[in-house]
Order: sequence, then C-alpha cells, then structure tokens
Amino acid sequence: MSHKIKVVCRVRPFLQKEKPDSSVTVEGKTVLRVTNPRDNTKDIRFNFDACYGARTSQETIYKNDVRPLVETIFTGLSATVFCYGVTGAGKTHTIQGSEQDPGIIPRALEHIFMHQRQDAADYDIRISYFEIYKEAVFDLLKPQDNVTLPIREDASHKIFIAGLTERKVTSFEHFDAIYQRALGNRHTASTKLNNHSSRSHAILTVRVEWADDLTKKTWCGRLHLIDLAGSEDNRRTENGRDRMAESSAINRSLFVLGQVVEALNTGSLRVPFRDSKMTRILQDSLGGESLGMMIVNVAPGTVFLQDTHNTLNFATKSREVVNKPVAHEVVEHKWTAVDRLQHHRGAARPARTVIVGTSPPKAA
Ligand code: ADP
Ligand code: MG
Repeated sequence: MSHKIKVVCRVRPFLQKEKPDSSVTVEGKTVLRVTNPRDNTKDIRFNFDACYGARTSQETIYKNDVRPLVETIFTGLSATVFCYGVTGAGKTHTIQGSEQDPGIIPRALEHIFMHQRQDAADYDIRISYFEIYKEAVFDLLKPQDNVTLPIREDASHKIFIAGLTERKVTSFEHFDAIYQRALGNRHTASTKLNNHSSRSHAILTVRVEWADDLTKKTWCGRLHLIDLAGSEDNRRTENGRDRMAESSAINRSLFVLGQVVEALNTGSLRVPFRDSKMTRILQDSLGGESLGMMIVNVAPGTVFLQDTHNTLNFATKSREVVNKPVAHEVVEHKWTAVDRLQHHRGAARPARTVIVGTSPPKAA
C-alpha cells in the first residue's frame, strides 16, 4: 500500500448568483483543465489522483476516497484528510457539509459508530476539536477567552497539545450534539473577529482505542479531519498590522504544509514538520504508516481564475500546457457608403478582421 498523500481535486458547481463560464473543466477522471490566466489561447492541464466535477455527490467522495482511510484506523493507524482552497471554494461544504447534504465529518462518525455496532467491540471513541489561529491553539470543546494551549513533547518524543479537552462520545447523536455546540463556538469567534473562521485551521480528531484480547494489547487509531484556512493571499487586499501578521501566519503554515506533502510524496529525506504548529501536531499522523489525503477545492469561473491557478500550482506539480481549441472567426468589415466610394476610386478593400475566439463553433 502506498503511504503517499493522495491529492484529489473537487470543483464546486456555480452558485445561483454566479454567471457560468467554461474556464475550468474536468477532463476524464483525473485531469482538471483550466484556462491560462496569462494567455487565454492556452489551457493548463493539472493531474490529480482523482478529479471531481460539479455533479459529484458528497456520498461518492466519501465512498471512493474517505471510507478506505477511515477503515485503517481500526487497524491502529492514523489517517488525515485536509481541505485546501480559497474562501468560497467549498472546503467547509466538503468536510462538514450541511444538514441536507452532510459532508465528511458526519459520514465518518456514522461509519465509526456503525463499525462499533458491527464488531460488537468495546471501542473507546473520543473527540477533540481545536483551531489554529496565528500559530496559536484554541480549544473549541472548552473555549476560554484568550487561552491558548501549548504544544509539548513527551518522553518518547510524541507531540501533544497540553490541556486539550477530549470528550468520550457514545453514539452519533451524542457526538453531533457536542460537535454542533463546538461549531457555535467557532461561529462566535468569527463574528468577533472579522471573518475569523476562514483565517483559522479547524482540526477535528477522532481517537478510537480498544483492548485486543488476542494480543493482550491496547490499540489506538486516529482520524484528523481538517478545514484549512482560506489559501487566498490576503496581503493583496488587506492592510493593517494585525491583518498582515495574520496573513503571513496563514500563508506560512499552508506553505509548510505544501512542503511537507511534497517531501512525503517525493520520498525526500527531510520533511519539514517542525516548521509550523499544524504540521508539528500532525507529525505522527502524516507519513510513516499513516494515510493522508488532501482535497483541493476549486471554485469555477473566470473571476476565480488567478486564485484557482495559485491553488493548483500549490497542489500538484504534475501539469502540462496545451493549446486551447480555438475558433478563428472571420468577420467581414461592414461596408459603409464611404468605403464603397473609396474602393470605387481605387482604394483597397477594407481589411477583414479575424477574431480569435475562445471556443470552437458549436456543431449544428
Ligand atoms: P469555503 O469553506 O471553502 O469558504 P464553502 O464550503 O463555504 O467554502 O462553500 C461556498 C459556497 O458554495 C457555500 O454556499 C456552499 O454551500 C457552496 N458549495 C460548495 N461546494 C458545493 C457543492 N459541491 N455543491 C453545492 N454547493 C456547494
Ligand atoms: Mg469555510
């Protein structure tokens, strides 16, 4: 089994208020084709382990990509799923979803409790939920104003967050009640601080522990489900010292995450886990025997094109530039009375204009 971090792309549908266009298209099962923002006669094709378009359901993504990861925690391994992308690209929809269209978190927890019933095993299931904001850790299960939690290393060099609340959960309904309250905590913080929730990473960890009669050992598997901060470069549009510090902390931690993913996927000897709080915390759950997946969320449309390119350039080094299928439309210059007169007197015909279109003419 490969322990590389799988990179999957998901393009959300156009929203009702958006004007659809064809600057971003899914090609086959693994390729995203996007107009080059600097030269609209070219497309760039980005390759992923899987690529999903607007019609892919939450259930399909869960079944295809997340379920196998969740299964591994019952063998005592760790698994991590991240959603990466700019604000508005569909990260929260994918990882959390809504009541009508639940995402990865509720599906994973239902799956874990179903496992517990099927195995009739004495699984001890605990959750923690925290936020990393400007390189500081905040507990979402027991929020306290201005209290941040320190990251420590134990005697065996395992990293942990000192004082982080862990709650035992006994059923899906029990989990959901705790989780909904914690989401409320996140929301309160976001109204106090302008758009805070898109500027922090939210990490839900599920720990499953059980005693195995056969081996007389205690086993533990862990699942991290992460809604990353928006990857937009706020430095372009925001000012003020606070915002700058915030943006550079976000950009830096995402940059380090990108380097960690790349180092793991290319088998590099040095993986820079220690360079940000988040990668330090996840160190034991990325690489090694752990399974990881990054879902790259993309918003369609020309308005997002530059952000889309930044996102895709971060997420995959596998790409090629291709010519866009182009229609050369010839438009006859409209003759005016003056043109006709001048032509009659020996002037050249007015020039024909060739318009380079962005899409071939539709077949009748
Ligand atoms: P982010 O968390 O990346 O900022 P959201 O998850 O909040 O983005 O998504 C932005 C908007 O797009 C929301 O209104 C959300 O409901 C909608 N949306 C995102 N992905 C999908 C999808 N796959 N299908 C339908 N609506 C989606
Ligand atoms: Mg969000």
